[in-house]
Amino acid sequence: MSLDLLRILAGALVLGLAGGYSLLATSRAAGTQQPPVAPTRTEVVLLGTGTPPADPDRSGPATAVVVNGTAYLVDMGAGIVRRAKSAVVDKGVAALDPVKLRVVFLTHLHSDHTVGYPDLLLTPWVLGRRVPLEVYGPTGIKAMTEHVLEAYRADFDTRTKDRGLYTVGAFPEGHAVNAHEIRPGVVYKDANVTVTAFATKHTMDSYGYRFDTPGRSIVISGDTNPTQATIDACRGCDVLVHEVLTLEWLAKRPDFQAYAAQFHTTTAQLVELASKARPRLLVLSHSSLSLRPAVDSERSAPAVFLREMSGYAGQVVVGRDLDVY
Ligand SMILES: [Zn+2]
Ligand SMILES: [Zn+2]
Repeated sequence: MSLDLLRILAGALVLGLAGGYSLLATSRAAGTQQPPVAPTRTEVVLLGTGTPPADPDRSGPATAVVVNGTAYLVDMGAGIVRRAKSAVVDKGVAALDPVKLRVVFLTHLHSDHTVGYPDLLLTPWVLGRRVPLEVYGPTGIKAMTEHVLEAYRADFDTRTKDRGLYTVGAFPEGHAVNAHEIRPGVVYKDANVTVTAFATKHTMDSYGYRFDTPGRSIVISGDTNPTQATIDACRGCDVLVHEVLTLEWLAKRPDFQAYAAQFHTTTAQLVELASKARPRLLVLSHSSLSLRPAVDSERSAPAVFLREMSGYAGQVVVGRDLDVY
């Protein structure tokens, strides 16, 4: 056996051990280490669990609910389309092939949740999407849509004009957008899913979403202070994906504390909220997590989240990009 081959085998062993450790470190459950696998064809895929900082381990906020082979997105943070392709290649979630991305619900218009808008509009279009993008979101999404379309006018015009020279993509109908400004209540319904929006408490018009699919219910909080609306939307739901900041990180960031107290949720607050909402699985996302000190030494390691959430009796996991539940 060559020395190189020995090195490769040793490296694989170390990676395997590290993978096992990370699973233990990021999941706490009564008697099990794995989230329950529901007997349905609905999956929640975390495409981006990050926040505004440019974290190479975590893309900007985006979550997919995949039902019977169709993907429904919530938020469009930086990296959304490439993470979707990773879900296809690395996780086998074929519904997230970029050309199939067609429907997105926005929690609010902060840049970290919308900076992937041109990517979600243009990349699947160039790859061959032939239907408009359907975008549901707060007041202002129509204006943002008009501005994004106008910003890329030169691209639409030239790719459409030169289409005869291409063999794939750039169909004129594929770069259209239907933007829908929503209010609380049922905002979308098809054969797979009913989507209900509820108002949340953030610094602008903002919503969380509940997805009811055949056999599963999923609630995604968006950015918010703890609200009764989130508890009411969940009430024993299968999966609650909630934002969260650790007390450890906030203690190091006095400049952010007053803002967070009004518009975000701490681990202590989430213990209280989840104890009332009682999801079968609580997924921590859009959190003050750092997976490597070299990226951010102030933010918290996965074990800190689980320690600070120890007052919560239910099952909780620290969400990472490309986790599938
Ligand atoms: Zn926000
Ligand atoms: Zn945010």
